[in-house]
Amino acid sequence: MKKNIAVIRGDGIGPEIVNQAIKVLDKVGEIFGHTFNYTDVDMGGCAIDKYGDPLPQDMLDKCVASDSVLLGAVGGDKWNNVPGHMRPEKGLLRLRAGMGVYSNNRPAKIWPQLASASPLKKSIVDAGIDFIIVRELIGGIYFGEHKTDDVDGQKQATDILTYSESEIERIGRIGFETAQKRGKKLCSVEKSNVLDSSRLWKKVMHHLAQEYPDVTLTDMLVDNCAMQIVKNPSQFDVIVTENMFGDILSDEASMITGSIGMIPSSSLGKTSCGLYEPIHGSAPDIAGQDVANPIGTILSVAMMLRYSFDMPAEADSIERAVSKLLDDGYRTADIMPSDEQEVKKCVKIGCSQCGQLILQRLTKG
Ligand code: NAD
Repeated sequence: MKKNIAVIRGDGIGPEIVNQAIKVLDKVGEIFGHTFNYTDVDMGGCAIDKYGDPLPQDMLDKCVASDSVLLGAVGGDKWNNVPGHMRPEKGLLRLRAGMGVYSNNRPAKIWPQLASASPLKKSIVDAGIDFIIVRELIGGIYFGEHKTDDVDGQKQATDILTYSESEIERIGRIGFETAQKRGKKLCSVEKSNVLDSSRLWKKVMHHLAQEYPDVTLTDMLVDNCAMQIVKNPSQFDVIVTENMFGDILSDEASMITGSIGMIPSSSLGKTSCGLYEPIHGSAPDIAGQDVANPIGTILSVAMMLRYSFDMPAEADSIERAVSKLLDDGYRTADIMPSDEQEVKKCVKIGCSQCGQLILQRLTKG
């Protein structure tokens, strides 16, 4: 099979981690007989420097025309003081909206080899951590009006949070369908004790629940959910929530699994053209040192193969290779154990070595 992938390396560690993912993808192509063609796309700070725009229209067009998009990360201190509409993150928001990818899926799963890297108590980790956060991605406060006015001699800032029934319904369906394929438990997270948008969210979710009688729907306020994720994460199967709540909760969920560097994500809309990216940012503090963990990006490529290209065996081969790497004791700096005895059993590796060792472990069956 031939697939065209738009590749956004972005800023900071973006190019380092994406290069490893491409190496792995090429090896998968070689083993399974596929051809992956890559089109480079500039987005983020590097695009601001080149074109004065975080995502020029022709770059977005290349993404929309591709079979899927692989993204590293964007942003960095250099662009912190550019005007709001020019920030690197604006490119990312424009990309998500332009591709119409309204559903962001982030697994929070602990790798048994990394259980000791979780900051949670062993008893909590041993109960199991394996859930998915389905986050609405192109609505809510991040896409509402943002403005700063002068009012009564001082600045007043406003950000508007809007959701329509149809926006809630389409992400709700993804939540229910994801739960149907897993443990059939869906937790809808909102702030209905305060926000109108959340009360509408809850109403739509309960209306939809009638169409999915095999799924048990529960409601949880977002502040309680933040607590429950650290207190009793094994209770969750699938969480569905709005854009900003999902952004925050999924970072929290990634930390309890050990490292933000391990977590992939997929973003999908009406078509199979998806956006695949690790959940972390551009990590300017470690950029250019070849120490970043590329596994979140490599696992994002596995998600691309599974969800956009219908290549489950190829996706399995990548996940197996990552598991073997961890079994063999290789660790990037962010997932090195803190315990002295455990450290002795591990070999510390850099970003490119990590990519190389994973591709050496790829097998067909
Ligand atoms: P970050 O995720 O970049 O980094 C947080 C911490 O995690 C840092 O200590 C970093 O070194 C570490 N880390 C992140 N990824 C890692 C990896 N793969 N391997 C090892 N360690 C890793 O978050 P931040 O510092 O808040 O943001 C840095 C920049 O990234 C900002 O400009 C922010 O706006 C941007 N950002 C971009 C995205 C995106 O492109 N999707 C997402 C979040 C943040």
